[in-house]
Amino acid sequence: MNKLKKDLLSDKSTAIFLEQIAGPMAINVIKLFNNDGLSPEEISKKLNEKITVVRSTLNSLHFRGIACYKKQRNENNLYEFIWEIKYKKIVDVLLLQEIKKFKKLEYELTQKEGHDYFFCPKKCNVEVIFEVAAAYNFKCPNCSANLEILNSKNKINKLKREKNIIEKNIKKLEELLEKINDNTSGYHCE
Ligand SMILES: [Zn+2]
Repeated sequence: MNKLKKDLLSDKSTAIFLEQIAGPMAINVIKLFNNDGLSPEEISKKLNEKITVVRSTLNSLHFRGIACYKKQRNENNLYEFIWEIKYKKIVDVLLLQEIKKFKKLEYELTQKEGHDYFFCPKKCNVEVIFEVAAAYNFKCPNCSANLEILNSKNKINKLKREKNIIEKNIKKLEELLEKINDNTSGYHCE
């Protein structure tokens, strides 16, 4: 396996993501591929894992376009499925997820920066924008305590830091997407 692919798989966010979409075996299954197609039986033997678990992991990865298969005849002249992994697609899906997170954070930031927020000091978990607080006559709708203005500075700084981290990650993934290559012609990916 080349260095780019190794780096991608050793990244913690990749591992979390793969587990989310295809279960705890996903990363181990993917790590077995080294420019050669593998059958579920071979994967099952190598990992000492039940064939049903291997198949369902491959199917979940296939659903995202990450695992691709082709049908071919084996030495007994029977059809078997051979699988391959599309690393470019892993990066692609990861990138999409990060961009979604980025947009959400950006929206949250413009909301926080553009509005004054009011909260209940009695910990009722009430936090509303000025217009809503005014409609409540600046009293908590839950306990009637006077609502207080919220200092959003810490929250805004925290959001900004998160945004910076994601922005860096997006840049890294975009560069990776340019460089990473797969040898999966002849396989059904979608
Ligand atoms: Zn309250």
